[in-house]
Amino acid sequence: MTIDDAPRDALRGGPRELLRWVATGAAVSRADLSRLSGLSPSTVSQRVEALINQGLLEETGAGRSRGGRRPRQLAVPTGGAVVGAIDLGAHHARVGALDLSGRVVRARTLPVRIEDGPESVLGTLLAEVATLVGSDSAAGDSVPGALRGVGIGIPGPVQHATGRIVSPSRMPGWNGFDVAAFCAGRVDVPVIVDNDANLMALGAHRTAHPELDHAIYIKAGTGIGSGVISSGRLHRGAQGSAGDISHCRVVADPAPPCTCGNAGCLEAVASGAALVTALREQGVPVSDLTGVIRLIDDGDRQATALARQAGRAVGEILAVVVNFFNPQVVAIGGRLADCEPLLASMRATLYERCLPLATQTLLIERVAAGQDVGITGAAHLVIDHVVAPA
Ligand SMILES: [Zn+2]
Repeated sequence: MTIDDAPRDALRGGPRELLRWVATGAAVSRADLSRLSGLSPSTVSQRVEALINQGLLEETGAGRSRGGRRPRQLAVPTGGAVVGAIDLGAHHARVGALDLSGRVVRARTLPVRIEDGPESVLGTLLAEVATLVGSDSAAGDSVPGALRGVGIGIPGPVQHATGRIVSPSRMPGWNGFDVAAFCAGRVDVPVIVDNDANLMALGAHRTAHPELDHAIYIKAGTGIGSGVISSGRLHRGAQGSAGDISHCRVVADPAPPCTCGNAGCLEAVASGAALVTALREQGVPVSDLTGVIRLIDDGDRQATALARQAGRAVGEILAVVVNFFNPQVVAIGGRLADCEPLLASMRATLYERCLPLATQTLLIERVAAGQDVGITGAAHLVIDHVVAPA
């Protein structure tokens, strides 16, 4: 074992890991868990019993016999809408009810006016969670007893320990708002708040590459951010700002002004909002990111040039991150991930600027999990918390 492997190894056989092995099908019995964890059968049995008592694992039927008594099979209870999830975006929110394996049971997309402020927006979305988990209670009522927790993704910086929003762009009235405290007053289950890029990273990692330990996920939509998976776990850093690449400086002439007060930030060059602004300044009548993407798909010259410039800027920052962090996979999600010229320039810049050793086996891909990736990540945050509360 290298020093580098230590954090993950220390968790070997912890309740979260046992649960994840069962959820992913890597283990179906106590014997499997004992073999995978290296723990004694009695320790595994103790932990499994505790998980069964918490309702997080169940025993189903009998497994395949190897001569003696047929072993009972372990499974994560599926089908119950027991985890609430909200993935808040600039104009829409995806709200879902998921089961303990992180599978979506019910979900819907709601239009959102972020400028209506946190009380109004979050109140509406929590009421929707209550509806989706099967309650008829009115907004503000407690959600039903089956609910284990609610995970919420915010499109701005979130101080992880407190669940408070700190200096978000394009979210008037949200600065300093304590999302966790507001929600805790409305639902009597744990509420976990994180930024949207972290939720995407967690959702994509758990569904596409749970076997890879080091990964970077870029979320490129109206804003731009990233989530970091290090040694198999979401890396938040000291305050929760790890992965926030939005105000890293890129080469741009002229350097466009950024909402943070500086100029030439990645967000001011490569985010969806920046593309809308730049096209308008060139006299192209476009009102939102959907319009920009349509222009790029239609091969519009100005929009395509801006998308290429954005891709180079993302690649430039990503090259620093890849050289520094040496991930196994870099995946891009969000609405701009389908934008081919952006992706092509990002990829080219990344290869040009990275050490050969860093890119030799590096996977560069799109996040494949679709529109539910954020709520899936939110559900995993809740499930991890329920298994081992902080
Ligand atoms: Zn900035």
